[in-house]
Amino acid sequence: MLLVRLRTVLELVLGLRRHDIRAARTFMASFFPGRNPLARLISFMRWALDLMWRQIPATNAWASFASPVSRTPIWLRDKDPFENHPFDTRPSACLPEQVEVVVIGAGMAGSAAAYHWAKNAAAGQMLVLEMNGVASGSAGRNEGLVVMGRYYYYVHHTVLAHLDRTRSDLSAAQRDGLAHEYAAAYAKSAYANAEMIAETIDREGIECGYVRKGWVQAANPDALERLDASTRMARETGFTDWMKITKEESFEKSGMRTSGPSGFSIGAACWHPAKWCWSLMRIALRSRRVELFTRTPVRRVEDLGESYAVHTDRGVVHARYVINATESQTPWLFPEFHDIIRPMQTQAAWGESDGGTMQPGIGISGDRAFFGRDERGVIFGSDATRVPDHEAGNNQPSRFITRFLLTELKRQFSVSGIRVSNEWSGTVSYTPDEFPIVGLMDEKRLYMIGGMAGSGSGVSFNGAHHVVKAILGLDGPDYYPERFFSAKRFRPARRP
Ligand SMILES: Cc1cc2nc3c(=O)[nH]c(=O)nc-3n(C[C@H](O)[C@H](O)[C@H](O)COP(=O)(O)OP(=O)(O)OC[C@H]3O[C@@H](n4cnc5c(N)ncnc54)[C@H](O)[C@@H]3O)c2cc1C
Repeated sequence: MLLVRLRTVLELVLGLRRHDIRAARTFMASFFPGRNPLARLISFMRWALDLMWRQIPATNAWASFASPVSRTPIWLRDKDPFENHPFDTRPSACLPEQVEVVVIGAGMAGSAAAYHWAKNAAAGQMLVLEMNGVASGSAGRNEGLVVMGRYYYYVHHTVLAHLDRTRSDLSAAQRDGLAHEYAAAYAKSAYANAEMIAETIDREGIECGYVRKGWVQAANPDALERLDASTRMARETGFTDWMKITKEESFEKSGMRTSGPSGFSIGAACWHPAKWCWSLMRIALRSRRVELFTRTPVRRVEDLGESYAVHTDRGVVHARYVINATESQTPWLFPEFHDIIRPMQTQAAWGESDGGTMQPGIGISGDRAFFGRDERGVIFGSDATRVPDHEAGNNQPSRFITRFLLTELKRQFSVSGIRVSNEWSGTVSYTPDEFPIVGLMDEKRLYMIGGMAGSGSGVSFNGAHHVVKAILGLDGPDYYPERFFSAKRFRPARRP
């Protein structure tokens, strides 16, 4: 046993990469909140040593890794039907010189924009440009939950923290009131988004494994007051998707062992996120009004006054409107968004497994990781660490994190066997107030849907509908009022 331990510790230490050191800071802050930096560091070191010396070596008895472990996300084992579009059927296809709208990126937001354009535009061409394949970014690398967005209290909390830092011109009561306005606007749009998705899947007959059984979120034992406050706020404000459940109810729904009560999002669902994007794109491409070019990176967007020149490796396209749907990669094209769209790395792994007590078809978050179960195995992941802009979109998972998460699988679900075959990472983006941007990036016709703080499924479909509606001048409810959702809120001279 001593030899196994020594070998495991050596493997872990030799396998450490720069991101492990960055991520250690994230884990330190989230596992040991409210302590001073020295106490936090000491607690973390003790925890990490115990993890390496005792807990991780113990997983060797029931967990193994394929050789090699694939970096392909589990959702992308199914082949992207638009991997090389349109070149696989038209090898000499050329980009159009001029279109009405260019969409950059074909993830959840870009595919949704294409779908809504196909359904609503009576004239004008939309061209979607994607540097890799459809859903090759975070859309195809995620946990597979359709969220109801962040709950009201969470949004109020992050927006208020930002307002406290930046709006000394307002009184504390005014800042609190404004944070409530933001949270209400967000929840209203997210609830509508979730219903739009459910209706669209039903109406279009989209096959993406959609199952709506909710999402159990274990409360950190140190944060039970926060759970009570958040569910109380949900009741008081009428955004009642978020409720508290007992630890017995939590176990019954998810199979997760917790030390106390959990939060529960009633309307959340599970799905195959890449199949969702592919289906939206397939429907969109039935319309003459939508074209897609994958394997076509956009290098620059130039404002020519009455139009934009979109520079790609395949030539330049002129468009009256541009929709930036590149999410965490936004600062590549728009460096001025460096501190507005902050890429954060999250990772996941999948392995064939008995799954222990874990229940299928329901969203599950422990206090340190997320989990999900399908018919053959389990997916599990964690992390939310900022990476430099040039690392946005990279696939660079940490083996240390995966091995740590195996200990959580045992602790919370008594999994008795797993063979990890896939391990990957992606980046999501956070704005300074963790509130999304849906609307104009400039004063003209350059739009974006982004900054979704890891909740893209809760924002992208309704958000893309809003942007398409704005371009086409269509009527309808304004779910994304400019006052809250525009990027302008980060420019001091143009506060809401
Ligand atoms: C591990 C993990 C777990 C997650 N779990 C969940 C979850 O359960 N539920 C949930 O709602 N969200 C989850 N998320 C977040 C979610 O995946 C994102 O919010 C969502 O994918 C954002 O969609 P998007 O279309 O805006 O961005 P992306 O899916 O990242 O798409 C952006 C696209 O733009 C393309 N692109 C970038 N730059 C260029 C360029 N210059 N030219 C051309 N194309 C370009 C990229 O290749 C990419 O395809 C998770 C994310 C990760 C990484």
